[in-house]
Amino acid sequence: MSISPIHVIGGGLAGSEAAWQVAQAGVPVVLHEMRPVRGTDAHQTDRLAELVCSNSFRADDWESSAVGLLHAEMRRCGSLILAAGDAHQVPAGGALAVDRDGFAAAVTARIEAHPLVTIAREEVAGLPPADWDSVVVATGPLTSPALSEAILALTGEGELSFFDAIAPIVLADSIDMDVAWRQSRYDKEGPGGDAAAYINCPMTKDQYEAFVDALLAGPKAEFKAWEHVPYFDGCLPIEVMAERGRETLRHGPMKPVGLTNAHKPEEKAWAVVQLRQDNALGTLWNMVGFQTKLKHGAQTEVFRTIPGLEKAVFARLGGLHRNTFLNSPKLLDASLRLKADPRLRFAGQITGVEGYVESAAVGLLAGRFAAGERLGRPCAAPPSTTALGALLGHITGGHLDGGKGSFQPMNINYGLLPAIAPPKRADDGRRLGSKEKGRAKKRLVGERALADIAAWLAGVDVLEAAE
Ligand SMILES: Cc1cc2nc3c(=O)[nH]c(=O)nc-3n(C[C@H](O)[C@H](O)[C@H](O)COP(=O)(O)OP(=O)(O)OC[C@H]3O[C@@H](n4cnc5c(N)ncnc54)[C@H](O)[C@@H]3O)c2cc1C
Repeated sequence: MSISPIHVIGGGLAGSEAAWQVAQAGVPVVLHEMRPVRGTDAHQTDRLAELVCSNSFRADDWESSAVGLLHAEMRRCGSLILAAGDAHQVPAGGALAVDRDGFAAAVTARIEAHPLVTIAREEVAGLPPADWDSVVVATGPLTSPALSEAILALTGEGELSFFDAIAPIVLADSIDMDVAWRQSRYDKEGPGGDAAAYINCPMTKDQYEAFVDALLAGPKAEFKAWEHVPYFDGCLPIEVMAERGRETLRHGPMKPVGLTNAHKPEEKAWAVVQLRQDNALGTLWNMVGFQTKLKHGAQTEVFRTIPGLEKAVFARLGGLHRNTFLNSPKLLDASLRLKADPRLRFAGQITGVEGYVESAAVGLLAGRFAAGERLGRPCAAPPSTTALGALLGHITGGHLDGGKGSFQPMNINYGLLPAIAPPKRADDGRRLGSKEKGRAKKRLVGERALADIAAWLAGVDVLEAAE
């Protein structure tokens, strides 16, 4: 019986991985890549899976890094991107960095050689034809305008963004609650009945003045000439607000009104930084209105001067970039299908993940979901205790809607995974220090994830076919 093909649009990190997973499941796939017929502002070659900037897939250790754990899970799922990365790695300490030319050439060669893959070098310049009944759209942050306009028309105004405006996210257990306190402005109850929805960090006048100075002096990342990122009032970078006047932040995102310091009720804060819960687990807290172009190193340094955040661990740092991404929690179902047109699945950065590895990971899942559906053997989502499941959960439901523009691109991080209580003592009975507990916790999360991904694979790997 002949199986009709799945169409994958975009041969980047996500599309290459998705096409590979589909073909490995024994399902034919047509991979539509517009380069070299039409280029993007960032890609330089016609190779599949071209890395447009850094050559690093970041930390590679599953015991101490969330992205390292994602690597380990993807390897177990037969990821082409990880296999090619491993084969073309260059020395980079604990990170997995690759020879970009060798890596992209290897991905291209393996896909070209796969008997079930056809590569069409063409732009899909609008919604796919009606007779493509299963499509994975993986066209990335620089999706061609003709296709992005068609998607926008389908999803509706405001549901597909062309720029990100990312505020830093802090791990809840790294906030010093002896300094910060929970309260909503004017104790206003939200729809869920919670009058203490925000975490507040107070600043004195001197601390505020020093903070403004640091923002103004800190090194900023430059926009690329082609990015044309517009500044909208409402999502201005904080350093731009500070440039407009020393008091601007105090009358904007850092206004202290309607808040009483629970630890020092008699002291009126000069300014307050608010954090809002970002995920259903309550592990991630978003610094409200703190989108910024400060370089990452400077962000860590400057934001740790905020009282209560001295030991903050940042799950994500801020940024503003040209990007293309969906309001996925609202638009996609649990298997990455567009609710408004379920023949279309989305994968990669366009779903609101960030980074080469995360994009490939979502491609891996989309490919497996699409192949399972085609074969009549639906593939369940990986458990939320795995890095793959946690990433998927974040884009398809885990993020808490904080209003317009609140869903912003996300890297994999431990805050997306359910926590595990660390052991109090070492094997020899000695009490563990806080750093040791942190390390033990990460290792336990990793062990649980790898056991759970193995169990998931045992259940779903009816898909696997010989290469
Ligand atoms: C300037 C820039 C720098 C970046 N730097 C980094 C970095 O250092 N590290 C990092 O981890 N991430 C970085 N990123 C993010 C990075 O792009 C993603 O992590 C990753 O490439 C996304 O994978 P993807 O498959 O979703 O998109 P891509 O890898 O961009 O692949 C999308 C593919 O779709 C093709 N395409 C687009 N529209 C169409 C169409 N209509 N028809 C057919 N084909 C189409 C494109 O040609 C492209 O090959 C950067 C992004 C940009 C824009």
